[in-house]
Amino acid sequence: MIPKNMAGLKSMRTMSDQFNKEECIENVRKALGLKSLEELPHYDTINNFLSGLDVKELETIRTYMIKELLKKRCFESFRIEGKYWGVIIDGTGLHTFHEKHCDHCLRRMYTNKETGEKTVLYMHHVLEAKLVVGDMVFSIGSEFIENESEDVTKQDCELKAFNRLAKKIKQTFKRLPICILGDSLYACESVFKIYNDHKWKYLCRFKEGRIKSIFSEFKSIKELEHNQKNGGIFFVNDIAYNERKVNLIELLWKWKMAKRENMYL
Ligand SMILES: [Zn+2]
Repeated sequence: MIPKNMAGLKSMRTMSDQFNKEECIENVRKALGLKSLEELPHYDTINNFLSGLDVKELETIRTYMIKELLKKRCFESFRIEGKYWGVIIDGTGLHTFHEKHCDHCLRRMYTNKETGEKTVLYMHHVLEAKLVVGDMVFSIGSEFIENESEDVTKQDCELKAFNRLAKKIKQTFKRLPICILGDSLYACESVFKIYNDHKWKYLCRFKEGRIKSIFSEFKSIKELEHNQKNGGIFFVNDIAYNERKVNLIELLWKWKMAKRENMYL
């Protein structure tokens, strides 16, 4: 898959055809440090091999690649404030089924408003941590969001998976200065505690309803200082929340004739 995408090929079949040329086989032989290589395997053979491979083996290769990239210091200019590496956290749907697929499927029930008929959707999701370097992102950690068994009372969710993913990232990149970039789901006490425990910085989107006390303090200060508003930016520092203090910034801008409004913690 990786060489296929690197070569801009659209399908695995074209890869099998295009790569099985003498000079390509010779290049792959050199890259792999082999004495001889007769031909490249068919993509079905590669897929068969990958499906039997322990996920941990692939994670080890990924970690090696990322650490090598960081060691080469070619992305230094993308550090936030010259120090922190931005890491985006985001959940993605992988598969959806109309019938039970396995014991680990996440389930969501839908009710048809007209008929009242209930249907269950079975899903598999993954939570990804991606290192941000300019316009590129590199996956540095993955955690599947899935139920331990079919009869769990509370299903697995993105925040529970984040707890597990954060432990993995901390274990793998112990001293890497990280700034987590997340959506407003990540603006909550349990996640702030994880950031603190791991000594990570964070920047996340904020929505009014996520933590009401923070928003109401922000709103009242904004109303008081309305006349001093500086263009489309307004921020309040040191808003008290539990044992910590947070900064909230609001940005307003016009984009393609539409007004956008975003808040970040
Ligand atoms: Zn399943």
